[in-house]
Amino acid sequence: MSLQKKISILGAGQAGAYAASEIRKYDKESQITIFSEESYLPYERPPLSKECIIGKKNFEELSFFSKSFYEVENINIKYQAVEKVNFEKKILITNDNQNHNYDSLLIATGSKNRQLSYDKENQDIKDNILYLRNIEDCKKIKKIIESHNKFAIIGGGFIGLEIASSISQLDKTAHIIEMGPQVMGRIIPSQIASMVSKHHENRGNSIFVNSNILSIKKIDREYQIELNNNKKILVDFIIAGIGSFANVDLFENTSLKLDNGIVTDEFCRTSEKDVFAAGDVSNFYHPFYNSRMRLESYQHAQNHGIAAARNILGQNIPYNTIPWMWSNQFDLNIQLIGICNDFDQEVQRGDSFEEGIIYIYLKNKKIMGACGIGIAGKVGRDIKLAGKISENEVEIDKKQLLNREVKLNKLLKK
Ligand code: NAP
Repeated sequence: MSLQKKISILGAGQAGAYAASEIRKYDKESQITIFSEESYLPYERPPLSKECIIGKKNFEELSFFSKSFYEVENINIKYQAVEKVNFEKKILITNDNQNHNYDSLLIATGSKNRQLSYDKENQDIKDNILYLRNIEDCKKIKKIIESHNKFAIIGGGFIGLEIASSISQLDKTAHIIEMGPQVMGRIIPSQIASMVSKHHENRGNSIFVNSNILSIKKIDREYQIELNNNKKILVDFIIAGIGSFANVDLFENTSLKLDNGIVTDEFCRTSEKDVFAAGDVSNFYHPFYNSRMRLESYQHAQNHGIAAARNILGQNIPYNTIPWMWSNQFDLNIQLIGICNDFDQEVQRGDSFEEGIIYIYLKNKKIMGACGIGIAGKVGRDIKLAGKISENEVEIDKKQLLNREVKLNKLLKK
């Protein structure tokens, strides 16, 4: 279908791996090279905070595709970090000083953890705070959790709460310290956030919201954390999950347009010719919402990588996917679709975890987003349906949603 060309993919995460596989579906000729900083086959990260810590999944099970898949599909993985990109000459320079030409480049460098910055703490304390991003971090955290009992989790976001849930499932205790007034405050509605907090507390974890850390001291083998609300917590180790940034260090002083990530259009095109970006690193234009967004979820990374692949091949398909994400904590599954903070009406369906509880957000009678919580498997179907109704821009009366006899699939067919 296409002439042989050199397609380079910078980054071996979900976006990069799925882009490579998608390109190969349509293009059997081109040379495809993925550049990976890590030494593992491209792998999925969601289990790192959950199944891997509690020992329900091995690291070997995380690969998206097997080694033989890459061999059979002739997708080359170079385990070498890229240190420089010359957009003008279309060259990547790796840390072994080799130059690699490309015809098309996909940047899928993901995001990197925000680090705590407490001037008053000494280097020893800073060096001992744990962060989770990759398999090596997970191995370290897992080992420490196995041999200690009390942990402070700084940041009540997804990473923090998922690790706290894993810690509790191992019969240990997590104290979660969150600056904001609720957990998962960036995107999860407050009603669902408070149900999640309660669930953690009922299982022995504690949650401190509206809490700023005043100091961290090492006392013998423990860390003493002093909070602004006269609270002091003594723990064996500190784990921080306080958000992330687009991983754009490589492009800071280049001509590539950056603004909270790499600025891309709906076709994943960047400001540089033949350079595309996908996944966490891209701040992309979303035609459905007529706005820009940068998303950090595995589903987006995968679909965006696939969309970039097809656009690299010249298929000109706009990326219009409604955002969806999930989190598992204890026996609960939390799912979110669309946008839940821009609405004029809110409807609750269901009132127990056993049947599932979903909040649906309407604006001008159209679903903008929905967020649900329930025992695993209970809210997935309705969340997907809410997304479909939103995508189809079906006009809905709030009364219809309030009536539990009216199934969401009936509204979709309207
Ligand atoms: P996050 O979801 O942004 O949550 C971090 C939380 O920590 C925020 O509430 C943040 O408050 C708070 N925070 C920041 N600095 C703090 C401090 N010094 N003390 C106390 N709290 C502080 O980020 P994350 O949990 O680190 O996860 C990183 C990214 O990976 C996120 O985009 C997340 O969605 C994604 N992720 C997704 C999943 C999933 O899909 N299940 C799982 C794990 C991670 P502010 O918002 O006020 O800064």
